[in-house]
Amino acid sequence: MAEKKLNGTVIVTYRCNARCSMCNRYKAPSKPEEEISIETIKKLPKMYFTNITGGEPFIRTDIKDIVRELYKKSDRIVISTNGFFTDRIVDLCKEFPQIGIRISIEGLEETNNKIRGLDNGFQRGYQTLKTLREMGMKDVGFGMTVQDMNAPDLVPLYQLSDEMGMEFATASLHNSFYFVEAKNIIKDRPMVAQNFENLVNELLASKSPKKWFRAYFNHGLINYIYGQKRLLPCDMSFDTFFIDPYGDVMPCNGTKDKEVMGNLNNQSWDELWNSPEAEQVRSKVRCCDRDCWMIGSVSPAMHKYIWVPLWWVIRHKAKFWTKKKYSMYENKIVRDLRDGKVTKEDLDKCSTCDMCATVNNGLSAASMEQLKNKTGEEIVDADIAAQMNK
Ligand code: SF4
Ligand code: SF4
Repeated sequence: MAEKKLNGTVIVTYRCNARCSMCNRYKAPSKPEEEISIETIKKLPKMYFTNITGGEPFIRTDIKDIVRELYKKSDRIVISTNGFFTDRIVDLCKEFPQIGIRISIEGLEETNNKIRGLDNGFQRGYQTLKTLREMGMKDVGFGMTVQDMNAPDLVPLYQLSDEMGMEFATASLHNSFYFVEAKNIIKDRPMVAQNFENLVNELLASKSPKKWFRAYFNHGLINYIYGQKRLLPCDMSFDTFFIDPYGDVMPCNGTKDKEVMGNLNNQSWDELWNSPEAEQVRSKVRCCDRDCWMIGSVSPAMHKYIWVPLWWVIRHKAKFWTKKKYSMYENKIVRDLRDGKVTKEDLDKCSTCDMCATVNNGLSAASMEQLKNKTGEEIVDADIAAQMNK
């Protein structure tokens, strides 16, 4: 029997040069010497899809070696980046033109720079995307985390990506150890949902079946920001995994605290994957109530339970042919808020936002130690300056 391939996410670093308003990871960097090594990467299983992420993955100067090694075991690789290190991205793409690149852009120029905390962040990201397109790279696109501040930019940014012939991936605010954040919350749900509704209709109106399924994903984001149960089961840790910079294998990046199935620096993959610790994490996933709706956990579920999104697409395409559009009020909870059957406060309680939570950042003791005398920003800024002077 053919070996079963998994869906993996490799967090190559927790270092980041951005200062995003919805993520404090930049304040909690990993120590470079502790970050996942090529030896550990060699121990990963066969994968049908690998996402390389961070922090900012291009902070690692050996990113090419990592990609080269991962291509020996993965059918498809996509790197999520803030797009700041243009030269490194372009250089990598010259060697791996088949790779996917997703650059996070959080809105049009002013909004993006405000959220991302990088003065020229939009121009850097946009120019990088344009350069990749001009090089003939096919699998490139934008990624946007939708919140109150940037929701009005959602459709304009989608239209920009469409004009450039690029992919457009969306998410909304999440809280977890990975983002070192517990206070993210959507304040004006109807306004944000209205912008998602507009995007869903743009996607359904397109000729691309892939975009029709993206429409379903964005419909799920409306459900998520209203704090409702996931539209599809979450099977993270069954045929999907995340591995952090320390070699710890985890089910996902959505848990409040870090959940560890085993450590690939010290164990073989088979030993780790079949361990009692891994089973314990799987039983936690089975009753997890965080109801995340991020592409990492939804994309495998959409493939596995394909008839659910497929039926949704068929119904909504049929509606389109009768000139009726998708409405956010198809979601009962959206009607309930409009009709006063639930209050904003009720919905706030359904979210993962916890203003009193102590946030666990998932760092090792050595990475924590370096934060005693310096801030994460100071450490990473000095690190990047040293890299540039080499
Ligand atoms: S969201 Fe990404 S780019 Fe922004 S601070 Fe967090 S890790 Fe860095
Ligand atoms: S819902 Fe799934 S992705 Fe979210 S925290 Fe739970 S197990 Fe992880």
